[in-house]
Amino acid sequence: MSQNKHKKILDLFDIDLKIETDSLSSSIVKKLEYELGKYKTDTHTSDIYKALALSVRDLLISHWNDIQEQYRKHKVRKVYYLSIEYLLGTLLKTNLINLGIYEIAEKAVSNLGYDLKELIECEPDAALGNGGLGRLAACFLDSLATLDLPAQAAGIRYEYGIFRQEIRNGFQREYPENWLNQDNPWEIPRTDHIYPIQFSGSLKTDVDHKGQNFVIWEPREIVLAEAYDVFIPGYQTKTVTNLRLWKAKSSREFNLDYFNHGDYLRAIEDKQKSENISKVLYPNDSIEQGRELRLKQEYFLVCATLQDALSQFIMEEGEKWEQLPNRLVFHLNDTHPTLAIPEFMRLLIDRHRVAWDLAWKYTTECFAYTNHTIMPEALESWSVDLLESILPRHLQLIYEINFKFLEDLRKEGVSDDIIQKVSIVEEGSPKRIRMFNLALVASSSVNGVANLHTEILKKQLFREYSSLYPHKFINVTNGVAHRRWLLSANPALSDLITARIGDGWKRDLTQISLLEEFATDKDFCAQWARIKETNKQKLADLTYKLVGIKIDPNSLFDVQIKRIHEYKRQFLNVLRLVHDCQRLREFPSLSYAPRTVFFAGKAAPGYRRAKLIIKLIHAVGNVINNDPEVNQRLKVVFLPNYNVSLAEKIFPASDLSEQISAPGTEASGTGNMKFMLNGSLTVCTMDGANVEIIGNVGRENIYVFGNSVDELKQLRDSGYDPKEMVREDESLRNAVNAIRKGFFSKEATSLFEDLCKGLLEEGDPYYLLADFKPYISVQNQISSDYFFKETWCQKTVINAARAGSFSTDRVVSEYARKIWNLREFYPIP
Ligand SMILES: *Cc1c(COP(=O)(O)O)cnc(C)c1O
Repeated sequence: MSQNKHKKILDLFDIDLKIETDSLSSSIVKKLEYELGKYKTDTHTSDIYKALALSVRDLLISHWNDIQEQYRKHKVRKVYYLSIEYLLGTLLKTNLINLGIYEIAEKAVSNLGYDLKELIECEPDAALGNGGLGRLAACFLDSLATLDLPAQAAGIRYEYGIFRQEIRNGFQREYPENWLNQDNPWEIPRTDHIYPIQFSGSLKTDVDHKGQNFVIWEPREIVLAEAYDVFIPGYQTKTVTNLRLWKAKSSREFNLDYFNHGDYLRAIEDKQKSENISKVLYPNDSIEQGRELRLKQEYFLVCATLQDALSQFIMEEGEKWEQLPNRLVFHLNDTHPTLAIPEFMRLLIDRHRVAWDLAWKYTTECFAYTNHTIMPEALESWSVDLLESILPRHLQLIYEINFKFLEDLRKEGVSDDIIQKVSIVEEGSPKRIRMFNLALVASSSVNGVANLHTEILKKQLFREYSSLYPHKFINVTNGVAHRRWLLSANPALSDLITARIGDGWKRDLTQISLLEEFATDKDFCAQWARIKETNKQKLADLTYKLVGIKIDPNSLFDVQIKRIHEYKRQFLNVLRLVHDCQRLREFPSLSYAPRTVFFAGKAAPGYRRAKLIIKLIHAVGNVINNDPEVNQRLKVVFLPNYNVSLAEKIFPASDLSEQISAPGTEASGTGNMKFMLNGSLTVCTMDGANVEIIGNVGRENIYVFGNSVDELKQLRDSGYDPKEMVREDESLRNAVNAIRKGFFSKEATSLFEDLCKGLLEEGDPYYLLADFKPYISVQNQISSDYFFKETWCQKTVINAARAGSFSTDRVVSEYARKIWNLREFYPIP
């Protein structure tokens, strides 16, 4: 481009895109007509939504271009955040809030005769994740931008996100969620960022002009990765984080070979097959493992991202590889993107001819890893056979990395026993590659996501590593994007908070501690309680609309919403319901605070027991909700298709947060933090971040029950016998028997046999029976405390006031300081 022409473009770019009501209205109309091809008479609310989103996107792109130019000029260090999931939810509302143009947009669309709230409801959730891990990644994007940290996030543009859940006759049914079928106005395709991704084939060795050997990988298949950018703005800053999602595209329209043989359909099939890579998000928690397509997805993500990062690096630094650690760091959000490690080595060694030792040095300086779970089935490993057939060069590199690593350990005199445990290769048949060990070997830092979780990593799961490399292990407790989960989800409460303590808390959640002095202010508490009542009325209306159940908005809203999994112990909650139902029948005059118990959550399609728990919740709920002796005081509701948007409606309306996982199983939990911020009290076990919540609020402001990790270990060591628990506790026996003998499943009396078998015959691995009695007794305490509304309200205020450390702003700034060594870069206006 000629200098002159280029200058002209730059001048035009600099025209201030500041948004005013009138300019926004006219931008919406322009987008409607020229981007969407609409005319006045055939315009729907969803078209206005899209036109508004496109107008907001203009602003985001303009900010992004500005800041990118400054990053390049100042050669900033950048983090590449690699995650296989992003559970974004919707973007219009939070984007408007973060850009500070919510009110302007409200007026602009009202000028056109529309209601912003209705437009917001038009947006489908981007549900490119399963649960907590994906949601954390999404919360990070908001905080990265708000803290002005140079970052690029990378993920996969799944055509189908997590399945849509419907309930038929109490059973979960899964339906494909084609969220892109009505276009995504937030994304912008980048046809200039396309990279080839190789699979399978064979390896050859060649000699270069210096006489050095090098490996050539001749792939059997090449798929293209095409970039789609989504921009996430920070709060009151011009920094935006770019989430670059990769879509798989066939590398050639058709394979000519097939045409020559007249096999036209086969040619199209082949094209479709390669595009399958970004077709669907894998639902996790399926016990079965090792699917080829998933391996390809993981490689696809990292290969595209690393090529992209290196091409950016080379553009700015040339081949000054020694600059790599100064310019970038790759963060592995759990084990899924660990192939980035051998891929980085491959690109440096095979493509750029960097010597092994240097390549390894840069790798160990440029990678960091977060562990998110200690559930054994979630610790990824791949069979050598599969890796060899899909990624032959990577297998070779992994063997080499492992060989050198173990050799060093042997030189240091490390015992064979330990060497066997830390080896990346797991001997046996089939031989497997442990991806988590690879992540540990190469990363400069390994972190857990709550104090307890990090301790378990150090003392149990990664014991051998942590004794070899204690300095690598750190803890960074999770948090949530409080601007989404409080400011945006609960506007009335946010306004009340701001009215009392100012709006500093929006950028700095620690300031929410200023609320504490109002906990004893009667007038404030009355307003606080009224907002909760209004939110509860709204959820009651929504409940009726969604599932046709009428509930008492004045009852205690007792809520367990999260993925359905045995370790999260929804079944324990159900045992309590059965127990309460039996007690209410037996003692009609029992003092019992009326409750509505809410559940929501998806079970992995292949996880039989979790799906049966959903059916059990419905079966028990059905009996309770239709029993006139009980249903005035207890109701059970299962809200289908739990996702971010539904969650945003439930948290603000909750009184009680159920965080009852078996101690030692929930790495952190983040739902617990969302509840706290929205004025709920928590009933919890000593697990994950609950422990830190308890520490913050004090035992007098939270309901803790059950065995601790250590107590469970003692119980196990002394021969835990679940049958004995049932023998000794009549009310527990009655509850289990009612379920087992089919009282709630008269049409199929043995339906829940399998669930009860897990408790009685299979050793009750999650200790439901051991924790039943303390759970019932803490719930009784809660019931009697709920009658004292003022004290209850006071405690909820204290809980919110002491949630200041649970913002991802704090989390991300800790990552920046302790792990990434990353500095803020403030955009120059
Ligand atoms: C916060 C959140 C989760 C995680 O909940 P936990 O209780 O921590 O398991 C899962 N799904 C959605 C939609 C969420 O918003």
